[in-house]
Amino acid sequence: MSSSFFPTPRTLMGPGPSDVSPRVLGALSRPTIGHLDPQFIALMDDVKGLLQYAFQTENALTIPISAPGSAGMESAFVNLLSPGDTVIVCQNGVFGGRMRENVERCGATAVMVEDAWGAPVDPEKVREAFRKNPQASVLAFVYAETSTGARSDAGTLCAIAKEFGALSIVDAVTALAGIDLQVDAWGADVVYSGTQKCLSCVPGISPITFSPAAVERIQNRPGKVQSWFLDMQLVMGYWGGDSKRAYHHTAPVNAMYALHESLLIVKEEGLEQSFARHHRNHTALVAGLEALGLSMAVAADYRLPQLNAVNIPDGIDDGAIRGALLNDHNLEIGAGLGALAGKTWRIGLMGHASNPGNIKRCLTALGSALR
Ligand code: PLP
Repeated sequence: MSSSFFPTPRTLMGPGPSDVSPRVLGALSRPTIGHLDPQFIALMDDVKGLLQYAFQTENALTIPISAPGSAGMESAFVNLLSPGDTVIVCQNGVFGGRMRENVERCGATAVMVEDAWGAPVDPEKVREAFRKNPQASVLAFVYAETSTGARSDAGTLCAIAKEFGALSIVDAVTALAGIDLQVDAWGADVVYSGTQKCLSCVPGISPITFSPAAVERIQNRPGKVQSWFLDMQLVMGYWGGDSKRAYHHTAPVNAMYALHESLLIVKEEGLEQSFARHHRNHTALVAGLEALGLSMAVAADYRLPQLNAVNIPDGIDDGAIRGALLNDHNLEIGAGLGALAGKTWRIGLMGHASNPGNIKRCLTALGSALR
């Protein structure tokens, strides 16, 4: 006979999901109300305002999509692109490859700008790609590559897109609330994220923001968006600015309470303080890892503080170490992804999980597993 599920608690120090704070879990368990209840509508407005704070934007179309980060990525592409369009896609890890998939599934052409996994996107290569493909209408890149732990220069890349008259699509799934993300100051056009990384919320929601230029492009599309669920013109009827909200889909009501609480926590701490904490804890973790004789996979200048990629030493059994951490210490770290499978571990210090206690727990566990 089946019984209720009670997982053994883990310390989540992988590439996400990250530890969810008790405050957010508490919000999740509050009574479910209708997704068109006036109380819920008021909460939606507050969530939008808090997301604008986190994204550092005034964009009116700043909302949470009721589905995970992949839905944010897909919304960006299906709403901006039409068949026949050309997009410059930067790839320096797994997620740039997914962007290419999205572009091609929209019937558009992806011009790939490739950089080594673990290196940032090279702005000069992007400029060159625009010179060779002046018809390109969008530039897409991953700001914080979760698969490698590398950070690209998002401000410069958005400026290059503008220089060539294109819109930018920025993947900020791992970036939001962990490193600086200035949507308006950088002139980014569509930026999406996920709740399960530095927001330390439950997985399954994708915050997204569209600039006025992106909204204009969507309003002047030659044809319908291929996805009904992700069509922003329809989603706006529910999440839009006026008080007459129409049913589009049933929002994950309790997950929205959780998102609201996690955004409140970010605002209470303050973005600058959150970035500083992520940086401080990253520095301490790296020092500890190096003291254990381990080396980092990404050059110091481009390391993400919230996602630390570590080289697995020769002769070490990747799976055995991660298994020992999970089984003996209830601690999850991430395996390498794609081309880095078996070569790196990915240690997350995201949001609520970015704290000195977790660093100590991880270094102690790794030290004993490697002995
Ligand atoms: N983009 C990046 C950079 C990610 O790290 C992830 C997930 O790890 C995604 C997109 C997809 O997000 P999700 O797994 O929530 O669908």
